[in-house]
Amino acid sequence: MNQAVLKTKTDQMLRDLNIDPRVIAHRTLPFFEEVSEHLLVDAETDAATGKIYRLTSPAAQAWQTMKQQATAEGIAIYLVSAWRSVEYQAGLIRAKQEAGIPPETFFTSLAPPGCSEHHTGCAVDINTPGCDEVTGVFGETDAFAWLKGNAARFGFVMSFPLNNPWGFIFEPWHWCWHPQ
Ligand SMILES: [Zn+2]
Repeated sequence: MNQAVLKTKTDQMLRDLNIDPRVIAHRTLPFFEEVSEHLLVDAETDAATGKIYRLTSPAAQAWQTMKQQATAEGIAIYLVSAWRSVEYQAGLIRAKQEAGIPPETFFTSLAPPGCSEHHTGCAVDINTPGCDEVTGVFGETDAFAWLKGNAARFGFVMSFPLNNPWGFIFEPWHWCWHPQ
């Protein structure tokens, strides 16, 4: 599916959410196709909640290899989000709307449905023990310092550094695996 087709789908989903698509018109956001679910494998299971995080097979393998190396170097990292469907993303947006937050605000940290790298099955949100998940504080942890120095070796890139061109806030927790 090309970008124009994906954009049309996103615009329709935004209208379904009662959000004017023009709210993101100035952002030049990329659109991501949802990966087929049969290409996903279990990348990690949260021991406490039993929640399963799924990624494409090569991304899962890269994550597990990177985590193993981090562990060997005394750094604890774990997943707090991985693959997300377009519909699940819409649910996250509905929750923000129900909390009374305007789209101009929540779209700086939450991608519109169809615009999230998590749809690809290659993006991960990472946390480390003792850190509030999915917050800028992660950028001050030893885990983040380790990722900055090592993640590229495993194919992971931090997608949204400070002042990124897409208008997302600094997201030190969000990394995406790219085929090497
Ligand atoms: Zn993310």
